Amino acid sequence: MSLPLPQPAIETGLDTTSVASVANVANVANVSDVSNASEIPAALEPPMAEPVRARKLSRETEDRAPTDVDGALARTDHVSHVVYWTIQIAALGAILWAVFGPGVGATALALCAATFFARMFGITAGYHRYFAHRTYKTGRSFQFLLALLGTASTQKGPLWWAGLHRRHHRYSDEPGDVHSPKQGFYYAHQGWVFDPRWNATPLELIPDFARYPELQWLNRWHFVPPIALAAGCFALAGWSGLLWGYCVSTTLLWHATYTVNSLAHLWGTRRYDTPDTSRNNLLIALLTMGEGWHNNHHYYMASARQGFRWWEIDVTYYLLRGLAAIGVVWDLREPPAAALEGRLRSAAAAGR
Ligand SMILES: [Zn+2]
Ligand SMILES: [Zn+2]
Repeated sequence: MSLPLPQPAIETGLDTTSVASVANVANVANVSDVSNASEIPAALEPPMAEPVRARKLSRETEDRAPTDVDGALARTDHVSHVVYWTIQIAALGAILWAVFGPGVGATALALCAATFFARMFGITAGYHRYFAHRTYKTGRSFQFLLALLGTASTQKGPLWWAGLHRRHHRYSDEPGDVHSPKQGFYYAHQGWVFDPRWNATPLELIPDFARYPELQWLNRWHFVPPIALAAGCFALAGWSGLLWGYCVSTTLLWHATYTVNSLAHLWGTRRYDTPDTSRNNLLIALLTMGEGWHNNHHYYMASARQGFRWWEIDVTYYLLRGLAAIGVVWDLREPPAAALEGRLRSAAAAGR
C-alpha cells in the first residue's frame, strides 16, 4: 500500500532540527529511534508503508491540500460541518426531550455512559498518551485497538490527531499552535477544528506511526468506525440507543476533549512555571479521565501518569497500570523526581 505524500513533497531532505524536536515531544531520543521504536520483532512485522518524507516544520503553516491519507471527507468540508452540527443538534434535542418530555430509559443512559468512557479511554490512553507522546509501549494488535477506539470518538484519524497534538506542544501558546486560547476561547475550544490550516494530516510530525498501513487505513477511513458504532447503538436500542449511545455521548466527548485545549489553558492552578498557559484542574481531570492535570503534562509530557500527586485523580493511568499488570502494555513512563519537585530547568528540559 503506498502512501500519498503531501504535495509538494520536500526534496531538500530532512529538517533535522525540527524532526528532533518532534522526536522529543514524542518521547523518543532521536530520529533513528523513531524508526526502531516498535516493540514488534522485525521478522514478524508485515510490510510497512512507504517511508514518509519529511517536510519542513514551519510555525505559519500554509493551507495544505488534503491527500488520500486524510480520507474523502477532508475534501468536502461542508459535509463535515453538516455532520458535526447535526449530531450536536440531535444530542441537544434528545437532552431536552429527556428533561421536558417523557424522559430517558436506563438502557439508553447506560449505553451513553459506556460509549463515552470507552471512547474517552481511546482518546486519553490512545490518541494522546500513546500516539502523540509514546509514554508507554504495547504490541501491534493493541496499538490498532487503541487507534480504533480513538477513531470511534469521531475526532478524525490517529495520525491527524496525534500529529497536530505534537504541534500543539511544539508551539504551545505561540504562533503556530493549533488551538491556543490567545486566539480566542471559541477558536481554542472548537473553531480550530474547521480551520483549513489544520485540515491535512501533518505526516511530517508523525513519521513513527505513519509507517503502519493499518493506521493509514484508519486515518483515511476515519468516518467508518463512528458510523459502525452509531449503527450498533441503533441495532441495540433503537432511536434512543442511537441518540444517547452515539449523538449525546459523542457531543459530550467532543466538548470534554475540547475543554483540555480551552479551559485547561485558562482555568485552574499552575504548579509549574511553564512557558505556556497550561493549568491543573480537578473538574476537567474527572471529566476526561485524568487529562485535567494539564500543567503537569506540559511540564513533563513524557509521563504516562499526569496526576503527579496521589490525590490527583488520573483514571486513565490507573487503567493503564491494570493493563500493564496483565501484560497488555508495558514500560509505562513515570515522572522523574526532578520533575515532581519542579527542578527541571523548564518545559524545554522535558522535551519541548
Ligand atoms: Zn499532550
Ligand atoms: Zn495544552
